Amino acid sequence: MPYTKIYGVLGYPAKHSLSPVMHNAAFKALRINAEYKIFEIEPSELNIFLSSLAKNNIFGLNVTVPYKEKVMPSLDSISSEAELIGAVNTIKVSKSRLEGFNTDGSGFLKSLSEDLNFEPKGKNIAILGAGGAAKAVSVCLSKTKPKAIAIYDIDKPKLMALVSHLKKIFGDVNYAAVNSVAELDMPNLDLLINATPIGMKDSDPCLVNPDALHSKLLVYDLIYNPAETKLLALAKEVGAKVSNGLGMLLHQGALSFELWTDKKAPVKVMREVLEKEVRKL
Ligand code: NAP
Repeated sequence: MPYTKIYGVLGYPAKHSLSPVMHNAAFKALRINAEYKIFEIEPSELNIFLSSLAKNNIFGLNVTVPYKEKVMPSLDSISSEAELIGAVNTIKVSKSRLEGFNTDGSGFLKSLSEDLNFEPKGKNIAILGAGGAAKAVSVCLSKTKPKAIAIYDIDKPKLMALVSHLKKIFGDVNYAAVNSVAELDMPNLDLLINATPIGMKDSDPCLVNPDALHSKLLVYDLIYNPAETKLLALAKEVGAKVSNGLGMLLHQGALSFELWTDKKAPVKVMREVLEKEVRKL
């Protein structure tokens, strides 16, 4: 039997990842002899796992919580974007060398353009959350030269660290760390992004006062399960254009696929299986 290249998602936990269905459908569509697996690896076994990738026929990985930063010291090279974001979500094994990339922010930008037809240059943007996803999103948004980015997080040290990191790199964007959602200049906001996990549970509140939402606003929630968070439902009610995070998941995966295979990802096939899978959740 011709040998099968192995790819997979590394995380802990990682069992509920939608990446295997998406990538296995892509391999099948392009008739690539490869299989995408779940690697739920305990923290104590991380280094051994990473040092034996080539030996185990593993050609590429997606990296998820809690390892996006932890894998970095074990890599032979890191892309400039992943370096700026400070996290790696994609590893390519190339002649036993481990190369790190981050496709989260670029995947987000692709989805923003495709799903909301939004061009961030010169716009006023607010991000709720200053964690890993917010970091990738804010770095990639900053590269497109928006006018201003305001960020809010309950974790003040994390918020301040992200804003000062961004200020150091992107001198031409006006950044603000806000102490509460009420401080956001909602009437002049073009794009509101939720990069907190608030909205995943039915009991979660909407972080924004519904009265502040308006029809000229675009709202992007990184959450894709549920497909419609309270924030998105309320924004839709006032006529705002909205998107959930499925497009980001799709495009970060498609970009990883292209890094591993040097082939154009079959995005339509990947989107179809993802949408089908999400309906089952
Ligand atoms: P994270 O690193 O834990 O960051 C989330 C941040 O939100 C943390 O700083 C957290 O603070 C903060 N937060 C929690 N509750 C808050 C509240 N009530 N008000 C303000 N800030 C609050 O998580 P992440 O990896 O960035 O992921 C964030 C969300 O994005 C998750 O829902 C995840 O599923 C989603 N995501 C989607 C995609 C996609 O492809 N669509 C990709 C990545 C992530 P504490 O740490 O103090 O709680």
